[in-house]
Amino acid sequence: MKILVINSGSSSIKFKLFDMSDESVICKGLIEQIGANNSRAIITNELSGFKAERDLPITNHGFGIDIMNYLLFESGSLKSLGDIDAVGHRVVQGADVFNASVLINHDVLSKIESLVPLAPLHNLANLAGMRETMRVSPSTPNVAVFDTVFHQSMPKAAYMYALPLEYYNKHKLRRYGAHGTSHEFVAKEAAKLLGVDFASLNAVSLHLGSGSSVCAIKGGKCVDTSMGVTPLEGLMMGTRSGDIDPAIIPFLLKNTDLTGGEIDNILNKKSGLFAICGTNDMREIKARMYGGDEMAKLAYDMFIHRVKKYIGAYLALVEDAKCIIFTAGIGENDFRVRQSVCAGLEKLGICIDDALNESPSHLVREISTKDSPIKIIVAPTDEELAIAQETKKVVESLS
Ligand code: ADP
Repeated sequence: MKILVINSGSSSIKFKLFDMSDESVICKGLIEQIGANNSRAIITNELSGFKAERDLPITNHGFGIDIMNYLLFESGSLKSLGDIDAVGHRVVQGADVFNASVLINHDVLSKIESLVPLAPLHNLANLAGMRETMRVSPSTPNVAVFDTVFHQSMPKAAYMYALPLEYYNKHKLRRYGAHGTSHEFVAKEAAKLLGVDFASLNAVSLHLGSGSSVCAIKGGKCVDTSMGVTPLEGLMMGTRSGDIDPAIIPFLLKNTDLTGGEIDNILNKKSGLFAICGTNDMREIKARMYGGDEMAKLAYDMFIHRVKKYIGAYLALVEDAKCIIFTAGIGENDFRVRQSVCAGLEKLGICIDDALNESPSHLVREISTKDSPIKIIVAPTDEELAIAQETKKVVESLS
């Protein structure tokens, strides 16, 4: 079975074609800077090594999907679109409307559309990708896999905001979380490594990338997560502020010329690590910090401080954690960040083994000392593979 996974962001489309007989990747690619004047498309055929890069104007997501299809042929990854057995789409916001992955039909499309106000950039991009794939190959099953589904098990006490109830009742404002596919995938990997049943796993999962979030998992289910109605809440991120005092927003409206839209843009695109030291790349932040840059050090220290704060809170929620899990760009690759996060947590039962932590690997692995009461695990995330697995499950359940 060949499954194509499409992961559309606000200005990009990541795609991967899998051969599900052994879950191997046939090809992967990226369409980036959609709508900007430096848009480009890249594809790599993992079997033949063929690589192509095209700089061309890609004005919208629909056209991006057409370019993707062209590259699938050009790279020799496909002979016909009919060779794709199913397409899996990542959908950022499924709110409380979807509690499982679903086959996409017109009803599903209109429900995803009804959730656009909760995730305007992401859900619109996801919808454009789905509509174009369904248009060009109408007989191929398309499956929506939601970032929010894993978090649907959160108890009401965790997902409600302490706001007048009309905002929940009328506008569905509550915490939904994000990165659910990633948290579930790495927690299952951790359970396998530890030899425990996922349904009994208590863990704190740390997805630390450009966007970062923490998830408290009790008995294999999410009981809390740091992102909220949108992916802005929680940890300090590359360009997102994470938690702030909400009174800052009316303060800025009253005391500056900024509009609500401009404040939204600042909180999402001009805050976080970038706001403090001018870059959102953790590699550059560390290089500058070692060179004596005080603002890079402050950005790094703020990032670590907040991760530690969430670990403490979530250890209390899961009560008897078996492990903490590091994943995503920073969590998987940056041993210094892992070291800084775990420093001083020995009394909480988290004891890192420096040699294991520092030895590079792309495999799921344990980096805690033998006698650490809570194990520390690094688990590479693979959201696309998780989406392909879900898509296969949905398609097989139809036959
Ligand atoms: P996203 O999928 O949200 O775009 P990723 O999970 O790919 O993000 O993480 C991207 C971030 O990971 C980059 O901004 C960079 O700071 C960080 N990163 C990637 N590789 C390394 C590395 N080797 N060391 C430290 N940080 C890294």
